Amino acid sequence: MYILGIESSCDECAASVVQDGSTIRSNVIATQIELHKPWQGVVPEIASRLHTRWIWSVVEQALSEAGINKDELDGIAVTNRPGLVGSLLVGLSFAKGLAWSLGVPFIGVDHIRAHLYAPHLENDIPYPYLGLLVSGGHTVISIVRSFDDIEVLGTTIDDACGEAFDKVAKYYDLGYPGGIAIDKLSSQGDPKAFRFPSPNLHKGDHVFDVSYSGLKTAVINQLDQFLNPGFDKTKENIAASFQKRAIDILIKKVKRAVEFTGIRTVVAGGGVTANSYMRTSLTNLHEVTTYYPSMELCTDNAAMIAGIGYQYLKVGETSDFSENAKARVPSFKRGYP
Ligand code: ATP
Ligand code: MG
Ligand code: FE
Repeated sequence: MYILGIESSCDECAASVVQDGSTIRSNVIATQIELHKPWQGVVPEIASRLHTRWIWSVVEQALSEAGINKDELDGIAVTNRPGLVGSLLVGLSFAKGLAWSLGVPFIGVDHIRAHLYAPHLENDIPYPYLGLLVSGGHTVISIVRSFDDIEVLGTTIDDACGEAFDKVAKYYDLGYPGGIAIDKLSSQGDPKAFRFPSPNLHKGDHVFDVSYSGLKTAVINQLDQFLNPGFDKTKENIAASFQKRAIDILIKKVKRAVEFTGIRTVVAGGGVTANSYMRTSLTNLHEVTTYYPSMELCTDNAAMIAGIGYQYLKVGETSDFSENAKARVPSFKRGYP
């Protein structure tokens, strides 16, 4: 079965053909990074206008690279939540129109579940596992029982992890996009230069939660007081020390979740999973099998949309053409605590 996936929730205009939920036949990503760079962040109005201009050629390229004709498609999956509503509407409307004209089902997909599906495109991963989603807008530690069943153990109580990378990079003018810039600078810095604080979330309802606003404030507003003697206040040292702390905060909670649940498989997804220190830390988890996507599948892409779309289609779950775009989704059901 061939599923066309379409992703336009933010600044990536992407289309992909995936066969039987796991074989990537094409994965086209037209990024708008350069066009938002002057603002050091995504400008929603510009993003949706560019999606409108690009989407047809991106889809055509995905079909041609896959070597198939649009009449051979068995379904069309598209991100319809969460994201920038104007951007989402472009992909959603396009997908509905194409599905209608071809007479095939269309499936509206949750972008966050799709990020966690991405590693399944490259590996056979048995359920259940601990799911770690770390992206620009979300930070979630969960028990994943199926592609659709995610029980949240912990989440951020304020900023998302990727958002903290982006804000620190923007403040110190480290480069855009912020996460990649910090990752690069870190390789020339010393993570011991600054001793940034760790959030104090050890008790009760918060044992698996994380927080990034305190770390962000420390890095941006109170830099001097965290500098260790003998180190310099360089961009590289700021980046390396921030990066280590930001990732360690998460890894500590992942270890706690492994201990608590006894589940020894950790599957990570989302843009921050592209971070080199994050990848090393996950790989080094003791007596735990870890999976994370290859670089191209960490950040926004349409292969993950087509992949999870196939799983819904397989169990007969398709969307009605009245399905709308949603900027936000209700939070996932919270398990423990
Ligand atoms: P969401 O998926 O929550 O809706 P999003 O789609 O904007 O948000 P992603 O595309 O998954 O998020 O990832 C983008 C985020 O990943 C940004 O915050 C970016 O800084 C971060 N990121 C990308 N590469 C790296 C890296 N190498 N190190 C750290 N962060 C990174
Ligand atoms: Mg992006
Ligand atoms: Fe994303």
